[in-house]
Amino acid sequence: MQTKLPDAFLATRRGARAEEILRSCVHCGFCNATCPTYQLSGDELDGPRGRIYLIKELFEEQANEVRATVHLDRCLTCRACETTCPSGVSYGELAELARDKLGAHRGGSNGIVRRLLQWLVPHAARLRTILRLGRLVKPLLPQTLAKTLPKRISPARDWYAQQQATQRVLLLQGCAQQVMTGEVNEHLQKLLAAREVGVTTLREEQCCGSLKLHLGNESGALASIRHNVDAFYPLLADYAAIVSSASGCGVTVKDYGRLLAHDQDYAERAAAVAAHTVDVGEFLAAQDWAFTAAVAERRIAWQAPCTLQHGQGADGEVAELLVQAGYELVPVADEHLCCGSAGTYATLQPEWSQQLKANKLQALQAQNPDLIATANVGCQNHLETDAEVPVVHWVQLLA
Ligand code: SF4
Ligand code: SF4
Repeated sequence: MQTKLPDAFLATRRGARAEEILRSCVHCGFCNATCPTYQLSGDELDGPRGRIYLIKELFEEQANEVRATVHLDRCLTCRACETTCPSGVSYGELAELARDKLGAHRGGSNGIVRRLLQWLVPHAARLRTILRLGRLVKPLLPQTLAKTLPKRISPARDWYAQQQATQRVLLLQGCAQQVMTGEVNEHLQKLLAAREVGVTTLREEQCCGSLKLHLGNESGALASIRHNVDAFYPLLADYAAIVSSASGCGVTVKDYGRLLAHDQDYAERAAAVAAHTVDVGEFLAAQDWAFTAAVAERRIAWQAPCTLQHGQGADGEVAELLVQAGYELVPVADEHLCCGSAGTYATLQPEWSQQLKANKLQALQAQNPDLIATANVGCQNHLETDAEVPVVHWVQLLA
């Protein structure tokens, strides 16, 4: 794609990278076929090709910013377009650059909600308190907001003690995960302890940075990321891996090397932390362990979160582990499509989010499964509000 970015912008790290990505797009449009929002609206500007064009205009200072903001805000950052693109266009990174330009500190009610989400979600204690209050006043809340409340709230749990073990891993707690689905890591810790793997969590762990990145607050995200690098890096030699059971966190931590590549003080350590990080599916698949099915319900609809399948390319490991354990994975149509959760999307784009959820549940439940299994707290919380069968994290299905 031809570009005419201003010289001053091109001279910056962001500008050079934006031009590189923009030029890698040949405008073929293959990506539109797998874009969930393009499928909903049929509008070129709600698909990746149109959004890339809008971003180009934005960086060339030619864009109608209001129009660009509307269509970029509708993007889930699911990265299905990256999986489809034959030219290897890094759409997610380009969207990140564009969102940073549009600014985290927007005005109006949208800006207030965005600031509130950044104040709230990365802090587990705050989030737990507000969600409890929200559940108390749920009947009084607008339907769209009430729909985003989780079915249960996990209590604050003791930090896991470091154990004597044949190997040890650092386990990411995740800010939303420890509040909404804290039982997942409890189960994982027991699963690993039974195989002599010691689990440690760090009190110093902060939000992985994904929420602020999605909301266009790169500097805020990088502050958390640097904090996490400082906390995790000195421990790498003592731990086999940093393990994430929330694919939305894992995909971001795996990206720390790229995100801090420009920072001389952090680049090397951030890359080491990223290289040490694995999804729990990758970790378990690499072990020589046998698992058995944990529940009588054996027919599972597997929902691979976008952050696992498009972001990490690690959904196949999970499917294989579940089948090896004795589960039957029922066929699911359009597996590549996002469920509509997508971080804060369910709050900021409720109508589109609910429509995507309805479509996803129809596909997941078409074969009458006993359970739906997923790999990320956001998808689990989002889907279970309307699912007809229980929605669980797949780790809970292994015994
Ligand atoms: S992002 Fe990839 S698939 Fe989409 S238009 Fe550009 S080159 Fe084609
Ligand atoms: S990230 Fe997802 S929603 Fe956004 S343009 Fe790509 S496929 Fe569409």
